[in-house]
Amino acid sequence: MPNADMNSFPENSKLSCIICGSENPSLLYPLSLYGQLGAGGVPGNIFQCENCGMIFKRIRGNPVTYYDDTYADAVLKNGKYVRSRSTFSLCHTILEHECIQQIMQTSDPVSLDIGCGAGSFLEVVRSCGFDAEGLDVSPMLADKARGKGFRVYVGDVESIELTRKYDLITMIDILEHLPNPVSVMKRLRGYLKANGHLVVYTPNHRSLLVKIADILWNWGIRKPVTDIFGSLHVAFYTPETLQKLLVSSGFLTVHWQVMPYDTRRPGQPVSPVQLAAIRLIETLGMKLQHNGFRMTVYAKKTGKPVYA
Ligand SMILES: [Zn+2]
Repeated sequence: MPNADMNSFPENSKLSCIICGSENPSLLYPLSLYGQLGAGGVPGNIFQCENCGMIFKRIRGNPVTYYDDTYADAVLKNGKYVRSRSTFSLCHTILEHECIQQIMQTSDPVSLDIGCGAGSFLEVVRSCGFDAEGLDVSPMLADKARGKGFRVYVGDVESIELTRKYDLITMIDILEHLPNPVSVMKRLRGYLKANGHLVVYTPNHRSLLVKIADILWNWGIRKPVTDIFGSLHVAFYTPETLQKLLVSSGFLTVHWQVMPYDTRRPGQPVSPVQLAAIRLIETLGMKLQHNGFRMTVYAKKTGKPVYA
């Protein structure tokens, strides 16, 4: 692996782990050496914390400024994406779990979807009997969701002030976009009712797909790693590091589910050949080590955050 001079990057302020705060992360993938700074994703090199193992991107400023247009365009232009069968299938799978079914039995359950976009998940949650609310950074997408009759807040979790408490808070493909997850999760914890649940769906970077990408990187084939890590994502979780985040934010894990990446999802940034390769590797990963490129975690609030 080539050595990157950290001092050559203008964002060279103190570098600390986004979960445990340790100041000894090591450079994992110097994407800037391969033209991956600003190549359609949030620019930054990839580091791994030597203390807790968390993998994260070193970024400058707020990542939202990099994906404002791309994000809104992708969701709106891509009407197939927000209404696709695979999206609805995922939403229903998430809601089928026993702990969510129990919430549905309570009277007038209230839910909040973080990064609700144009409201596709809100529609499914509402159809299950929830008073469904959303939050999104994009005013355009929030308007779209409001057009479907939902209450939607515009802003980010850290700056918004919500007045309600929720039985269910969902984060579908959101956590990997957050550069400051501990403060966000602790804040969300405060918005949950005593028996409320949090559901997180995010990529699993312990998967076979990521392991193969890493092997290829060390052979000089950079594209799989740059595709995965040069994206809009800034935080790259494994089941272990996600568990650390949840514990440190005051959550108790109720259930884990690992699943393959959904290659039926429209709006894929990769070619049909690459999708076929991904599908093959994901099938092998699930069979050989029960490890896919996506995971869903159900958690409830407990005790106090470890890092209060
Ligand atoms: Zn750490």
